[in-house]
Amino acid sequence: MQSFELIRPESVKDAIGAQSERSAYIGGGTTLVDLMKLGVMQPDHVVDTNRLGLDEIEVLDDGRLKIGARVSNSRLATDARVERDYPVLSQALLSGASTGLRNMATTAGNVMQRTRCPYFRDPAKPCNKREPGTGCSAMDGINRNHAVLGTSEHCIATHPSDMCVAMAAIGATVVVEGRKGTREIPFEDFHLLPGDHPEREHDLRSDELITHVVLDAPLEGAVSTYLKLRDRASYEFALASCAAIVTLEGTKVTAARIALGGVATKPWRAVDAEAALVGEDATAKMFEQVALLAFQRAIPLEHNAFKVELGQQAIARALRDAVQQASQGEHQ
Ligand SMILES: Cc1cc2nc3c(=O)[nH]c(=O)nc-3n(C[C@H](O)[C@H](O)[C@H](O)COP(=O)(O)OP(=O)(O)OC[C@H]3O[C@@H](n4cnc5c(N)ncnc54)[C@H](O)[C@@H]3O)c2cc1C
Ligand code: SF4
Repeated sequence: MQSFELIRPESVKDAIGAQSERSAYIGGGTTLVDLMKLGVMQPDHVVDTNRLGLDEIEVLDDGRLKIGARVSNSRLATDARVERDYPVLSQALLSGASTGLRNMATTAGNVMQRTRCPYFRDPAKPCNKREPGTGCSAMDGINRNHAVLGTSEHCIATHPSDMCVAMAAIGATVVVEGRKGTREIPFEDFHLLPGDHPEREHDLRSDELITHVVLDAPLEGAVSTYLKLRDRASYEFALASCAAIVTLEGTKVTAARIALGGVATKPWRAVDAEAALVGEDATAKMFEQVALLAFQRAIPLEHNAFKVELGQQAIARALRDAVQQASQGEHQ
């Protein structure tokens, strides 16, 4: 690993002051340290966020939930307010990594985690995301784990987070602090599509620090579920996942929020499927129909074409599971 200087600021202001093009913030280090060992990320300065506070979870007056950047994935998943009002987030978090990793991993670090594309993680291989203009090894390589939605000719890497899929479905705001002050970025605008610049992954300026993520107020009477499909039952990233949140009036769907993981280059809101579902009867047949809409613009490649059907099944099953809770009276 390349040598680096560890900076341990005591305030957000000092942390921002210490940040530069050649530095990186560190939360739990479960992504950053890995990538530094591999030589994929080589910051000269590592700015520790451990002493900044930012570790509270607070209900705001308008009913939204404000989560500090340093709240660990374990604590967030088991917070009583999250379990009660956002069970889909709790389920998504608990489906990720392992207990030890979740104890270390922070909310901001999870939002900012990098892709697991093996070519990105191997400095010997061409990769437009790691080294712009060198090409994409996955395009004609082994692309079984790669994305079918939101891809470009320059990058097909998936965003690996489970937590972010739940947040995309719930609706959230990423609050950042930089030298020019505070900005609030809608969650759906935070992660960027690869387009011509896969190296640009998010709307965070080089001096900015994530201080909080604020979840939208929970939908009253909603039922929800997070379904993760993967090669083995634990300690594995999603091949396809779905966070589904619905409200019902009798048998009719009155609101639907559907987000996908494992199949897209960013946490993916299935807006066409949501729009088609609202006002319809909550039947298994209808869920299968709207699931098709979510993949209308999918671009499958040699090894990942199976993800189209897998993703459709994830949507249909997640909706079925959520609605089943409503019939059992388990509102959330
Ligand atoms: C073996 C393994 C299995 C895993 N399985 C899963 C899984 O199934 N599902 C899943 O979702 N995830 C999984 N993960 C990923 C894990 O969730 C992330 O590594 C973790 O959430 C990152 O959080 P962290 O605090 O450790 O981030 P760090 O490693 O500290 O940082 C990650 C990135 O975020 C930046 N950063 C950190 N804090 C801030 C801040 N406040 N503002 C701006 N930038 C910041 C860092 O500079 C860095 O670029 C797995 C990881 C491992 C190692
Ligand atoms: S898919 Fe993206 S991250 Fe993977 S090799 Fe291609 S450019 Fe790099």
